Amino acid sequence: MLKKSNIAGSDSARSKCLKIRAHHLCCIQGFQGYGYSPAFAANLRAIISDIKAFPSRHLELVSKCDVICASCPSKKECTAQESVISRRIRNMDLFVMEKLKIKEGTIMKADEAFRLINYQLTNASRPEEVCGTCKWRQKCLWYMQDER
Ligand code: SF4
Ligand code: SF4
Repeated sequence: MLKKSNIAGSDSARSKCLKIRAHHLCCIQGFQGYGYSPAFAANLRAIISDIKAFPSRHLELVSKCDVICASCPSKKECTAQESVISRRIRNMDLFVMEKLKIKEGTIMKADEAFRLINYQLTNASRPEEVCGTCKWRQKCLWYMQDER
């Protein structure tokens, strides 16, 4: 299933898909409306609504700035190549990619991506391993779920 869904390199699929950091597959599921700024929360809410309306929308899974970061006040810090936060966040993406057995730029349907991450992380990881010391842990439904 994963191999079939990995259509990285297809220009037509890439042009229609949303670029999403791998660890944001978790954050999206935990979002309760909190965020770094009103603009950030509004953007994330719109992205989630879009994905819910079109669960077969393709996502390109990456370890760099994505459509969620685009409205984040920390974007500059997170994109600075050598900053501590940039490396920490990228490591979260790389951890998730490793667990999902996917590579940078893998494209798959949103519903398949969420199924895959919930299955793989349920069996292989505790939320701390993905989220580290994220400041939203006590507000995040994905982090707080007991039975994953
Ligand atoms: S705790 Fe933070 S990093 Fe973890 S899923 Fe929630 S928002 Fe994302
Ligand atoms: S904190 Fe960094 S990784 Fe998270 S949404 Fe903001 S810019 Fe993106």
